Amino acid sequence: MSDAESTLITGIGELVSNDGEPSGGQPDSSQPGSFAAMTDAALVIAGGKVAWTGPASRAPAADTVVDVAGRAVLPGFADSHAHLVFAGERSAEFAARMAGRPYRAGGILGTVEATRAAPDSALRANLRRLAAEMLRQGTTTFECKSGYGLTVPDEARGVALAAEVTPEVTYLGAHVVPPEFAADPAGYVDLVCGPMLDACAPAARWVDVFCEDGAFGADEAAAVLAAGQAAGLQARVHANQLGPGPGVRVAAEAGAASADHCTFLTDDDVDALASTPVVATLLPGVEFSCRQPFPQARRLLDAGAVVALATDCNPGSSFTSSMPFCIALAVREMGMTTEEAVWAATAGGARALRRTDIGHLGVGARADLILLDAPSHTYLAYRPGVPQIAAVWQAGNLVAGAVP
Ligand SMILES: [Zn+2]
Repeated sequence: MSDAESTLITGIGELVSNDGEPSGGQPDSSQPGSFAAMTDAALVIAGGKVAWTGPASRAPAADTVVDVAGRAVLPGFADSHAHLVFAGERSAEFAARMAGRPYRAGGILGTVEATRAAPDSALRANLRRLAAEMLRQGTTTFECKSGYGLTVPDEARGVALAAEVTPEVTYLGAHVVPPEFAADPAGYVDLVCGPMLDACAPAARWVDVFCEDGAFGADEAAAVLAAGQAAGLQARVHANQLGPGPGVRVAAEAGAASADHCTFLTDDDVDALASTPVVATLLPGVEFSCRQPFPQARRLLDAGAVVALATDCNPGSSFTSSMPFCIALAVREMGMTTEEAVWAATAGGARALRRTDIGHLGVGARADLILLDAPSHTYLAYRPGVPQIAAVWQAGNLVAGAVP
């Protein structure tokens, strides 16, 4: 489709636009609002953006007309947390864990070893396979972290490879302390905040740190985020995954876009998330794959926090790339309504990435959209595990599937 052409998608059984009035603010079509949906709707794409939405009966003429026969159209998913630059796999570790052995952060080091040993071509092929897998499942924007290199050249390679497939590249040199620094963790933090950051910052948008017992403490995490911000990166944090800890507080104090995991929260943590713009990004694929208690989404939402859902796709603790699976878990296991879960997987992810052009289908939004082979968004949780993403458009181009 050239920019001069327009496409009318009509016969939409339910159009999820996320352009409702935000709580406490005025509607603003330039960024996501609250969950909103319309039945018997139509949408016009022009120039790669949403040009018009409204009742199908009042749709304007367009160069091309696509009738989707009562199916639902949603914004593409925004997966704001993924670790896709890696080699090897850890299915044996998963099987052992399911047989009763608890997960510890140390499992990451096996992937570090495999990743360091892999040629660029192998890492690139795996990354592209996963990116294509995400797109087929409706994810039109994803974040991708380094963090399995943990040397200056290996981390620089990680962010460079990630930048080939997404603009949302995160430098995660502070994933774990590698074995060669086991006796000198402070020396590793200096490396992460110095030469490694210098090598990675040009290809990255974000800096992240795994703030957890066995990884990095509060002072170390704050130092990593401050160094990254001084180099022009924006902050996000792995926080409160394996137990209570300082991660959410560190994220709030750093002005981070997002605190991710949020599985073990104190009342103070919930207050911090509710009273600051830090998005609480919940990653239920991890709790599923590690057989842990799920995050308390209801508690966060009732307190007024902004909640996002993401996959945390990685070979150890959550090897799913499926946002529909995360939506189903959030609804079934975390007390979220279907509307809240779909919003969190689209507009919530956009908020966690500080993006206003995605996550909604207001006029002017990028035309990233999903056609469900189902009449409403509810089916994403109502029919778990069933492939229902019929077609995916990215910036107005049909990039996966087809209109049935
Ligand atoms: Zn992660």
